[in-house]
Amino acid sequence: MEGQNPFLTAQAQFDKSADLLDLPQDIREILRWPMREFHFRIPLRMGDGSIKVLQGFRVQHNDARGPSKGGIRFHPNETIDTVRALAMWMTWKCAVADIPLGGGKGGVIVNPASLTTAEKEQLCRGWVSQMWHNIGPRMDVPAPDVGTTGQMMAWMMDEFSKLQGQYVPGVFTGKPVDMGGSLGRTEATGFGVIFTVREALKHLGLDPAACSAAIQGFGNVAQYAAIGFHDMLGGKVVCVSCYDLKDKKPYTYSHPDGVDPHFLQGITDQYGTIDQEKATAAGYVIEDAGAWIEKDVDVLIPAALENMVNAETAPLIHKNVKVIAEGANGPTTLEGDQLIKERGIFLIPDFLCNAGGVTTSYFEGVQNDMNYYWSRDEVLQRLDTKMTVAFHGVLDMALRQKVYMRDAAYLVAVDRVVRAMQLRGWV
Ligand code: NAD
Repeated sequence: MEGQNPFLTAQAQFDKSADLLDLPQDIREILRWPMREFHFRIPLRMGDGSIKVLQGFRVQHNDARGPSKGGIRFHPNETIDTVRALAMWMTWKCAVADIPLGGGKGGVIVNPASLTTAEKEQLCRGWVSQMWHNIGPRMDVPAPDVGTTGQMMAWMMDEFSKLQGQYVPGVFTGKPVDMGGSLGRTEATGFGVIFTVREALKHLGLDPAACSAAIQGFGNVAQYAAIGFHDMLGGKVVCVSCYDLKDKKPYTYSHPDGVDPHFLQGITDQYGTIDQEKATAAGYVIEDAGAWIEKDVDVLIPAALENMVNAETAPLIHKNVKVIAEGANGPTTLEGDQLIKERGIFLIPDFLCNAGGVTTSYFEGVQNDMNYYWSRDEVLQRLDTKMTVAFHGVLDMALRQKVYMRDAAYLVAVDRVVRAMQLRGWV
């Protein structure tokens, strides 16, 4: 059952690190569960005059290190256990990146595509009217996630500011740049992935310019990971992949000379689907979805969905692969993870590898507080520093304790949260 309920998986992962850290029972009792949960109903007046009542959630897993941080998802299959698991993972992600924030997540059970723009705006304002006493720049700072957008954050921020009677931009992050958002946020997660890949290659004594990568996905994270690997490291991106919404099938796109990520980005729609005709005309080879994982490359970057590196696909990983950088959240199943570990491939675990997004959200909050905004270069430079320090914190732990990188990331994160709870006198 553990594979099916994400919260049980998150708890099992925590239990393992708690054992490694030999944590006492009282601390485990706190960290295995969210500190606070909000369950509420949001009435929505539909375009036809009828009322639809939606179920909303906000989970604040732990705020020992600072205000809770995490997205709000609008998804028809949302469950409280998904939100709990994601909130717990946010606690570890913020801690491993060493940003002064805790972990939270929110959701509404709804298919946003079924709502008109006016209904979406009402839903966003309704969510805030239920939660405004319990969120804020010093309490809990939500952001966009699956099914929510920058525009929605702007509506939510507006509603919160109205209720407070003052402008409070820092209550939500992921806002449009014209409305208090940060430059560099779009590129942040993918570039952050590449900053950690650069450090991993350095550690392994490999020249990035002589390395190649295969990337799964071509959405926000994968596009900027591809651009970063190509432009910043000078490496060759052998292929990327995407799910074709017309064919309802995923494909891998490769090019004999390596892909040009800028060209591909120019022929990709907002959902991350590459235009097949234009790609073929430019000499791209379109292969099966699974082809990306079998490529003879140095670096594999799963940056699409969860569970893609699993018992069936992990044995197909080429013998020359030296680094796996988990751009996506949870791309590797427990069986896939075991195989990677046994083969001794260097792993950059998801909540370290893709922490660039939340780190730049933190920078957005900092800029909102100062009411002074950094240039894109300044944001990305600060991001590089944060990701590099975070990577080496985990690597040092892995080398010192002789543990796998995923276990080392948990040890670093859980230990930081426990220390904050102890310093506050909670335990
Ligand atoms: P996205 O929706 O922009 O892109 C997803 C991409 O994956 C698309 O190109 C889609 O076509 C492709 N895809 C879907 N199914 C596929 C399949 N079976 N095979 C190959 N490709 C497939 O999403 P994103 O924002 O890039 O997020 C990707 C992952 O990274 C998710 O796990 C997300 O939770 C995680 N993540 C994202 C951010 C962020 O800032 N965007 C931050 C941290 C983690």
